[in-house]
Amino acid sequence: MTGITQSDILKNPILLKLDIFCKGLRIDDSLRENSSLRIFRTRAGLGSGIELIFDKIIRVNAPVREKFAQESPYILTQKDGRIRVVNETLNQFSDFDIEIFTPPAFYEKKTSSGKQMSRIGVMQGSLLSVYVGGICEFWKGNSSRRCRFCTTGINVGKNEEIEKSETDILEVIEEAKKECDITFVHFNSGYNAIRDPKEFIGLIGKIRKNTGLLTGVQFPPFGDLTVYDRLRDAGADHMSFCIEFGSEEYFKKVCPGKYADIGHREYLNAIEYCARIFPAGSVSGEIIAGIESTDETKKIIQRITGLGAFPTICVFRPLEGSDMETERPPSFGTMSEILGFAYVSMIKNNIPVGLAPGINVSIIVTPLESKVFAARDEVGDFLWKKYHLINRIKQIMASFFIKKVRIR
Ligand code: SF4
Repeated sequence: MTGITQSDILKNPILLKLDIFCKGLRIDDSLRENSSLRIFRTRAGLGSGIELIFDKIIRVNAPVREKFAQESPYILTQKDGRIRVVNETLNQFSDFDIEIFTPPAFYEKKTSSGKQMSRIGVMQGSLLSVYVGGICEFWKGNSSRRCRFCTTGINVGKNEEIEKSETDILEVIEEAKKECDITFVHFNSGYNAIRDPKEFIGLIGKIRKNTGLLTGVQFPPFGDLTVYDRLRDAGADHMSFCIEFGSEEYFKKVCPGKYADIGHREYLNAIEYCARIFPAGSVSGEIIAGIESTDETKKIIQRITGLGAFPTICVFRPLEGSDMETERPPSFGTMSEILGFAYVSMIKNNIPVGLAPGINVSIIVTPLESKVFAARDEVGDFLWKKYHLINRIKQIMASFFIKKVRIR
């Protein structure tokens, strides 16, 4: 998608979501006392902003605390009794419905062991996100091993419980299902935080049996690939692997611990293996765009889609408290080029998108949302139409099965 103007961005919720990821958001004084504007940090601290809902459906985790966000032209404000985003430079307002996501009441409840539920799992858009296992090993001792964009070590133990029992987690899932109608629970963890996956596989089995909810797992790769067969058999639906970069140079520089102890190759092996044993559209390679060159990012997107997985693309957010906090996120132009390229790569490799119903993620522009950046002429009219027709049929079938048959 080329030739996008600032006025276009204010009219389209997906374009504005991306531009806010790139530029941040300031909050007008009139909204500062709004109790919904709370920040719950999760997932390497990436979900560190405020949660908004654009046009009833598009979930946005808007960066507000980081340095770059203080210079943003975007301000969240109220006009004529409605929440709007204004571009202060242009003095133009957004053109669609905006809501501030109200933190659910279950956040304030306690599990039967007495732990506050928001310290066990938090909503990230329409899904529940739970960090499991102890502190990532790269955050212990020598700070030179941790990923330089990450703030997990600041988060786990401070804003989140380190010890989360199976019962704590199951109770929070039950509440999130009742109150927020979730369809998906996403688990993530740090390096060597889960040494023996047996208990975790048991938890996945219980979620599947008791609730029918979809589950996603994002852990560093296990050397023993048969763990993924066991996870699949227990009922895990989605596997993702944070390979982060295309270039070894950046992988080494930004993720020194991962580079030394795991290595790019092991991530690719895990992606390839899971893409073979899980259904199409269930496996992803997560990358961070905006640190290395666009060409390197495109190369890893091609690699991931060539293995039969889809890329999950995070816009680099220089998080407050991370080693990279003074750096800047990428531009809208760079990101729209990368997201468009990724969508076209999924079409070329026939990877379905958006099959799981009711999942609207706030911390990334989702593969489905990336369609708006893709150039139809790069694949041709026939392939474009064929891909979308088949994908739509798959979406309807999956949605019917999961929502009507599976989830209890
Ligand atoms: S592996 Fe890296 S990104 Fe993940 S928790 Fe550890 S330091 Fe953070």
